[in-house]
Amino acid sequence: MVICPLCRKNSVGKVGSNQYYCWDCFVEFLIEKDKTVIYEVCDDGSLLPYCQDNSQLTLGG
Ligand SMILES: [Zn+2]
Repeated sequence: MVICPLCRKNSVGKVGSNQYYCWDCFVEFLIEKDKTVIYEVCDDGSLLPYCQDNSQLTLGG
């Protein structure tokens, strides 16, 4: 089961082969072998790298 790396819930939809969308956080994330990359979705549908400066996240491990 895939869970969101931010909220750790499973309200996650698959949008690509290893690409997912969290309906709670409104972010997309890519699950790679050794890391998870999170993107914010802009109003126009484009993706921006998620800013983690304001939270203490430890991904992977
Ligand atoms: Zn989430």
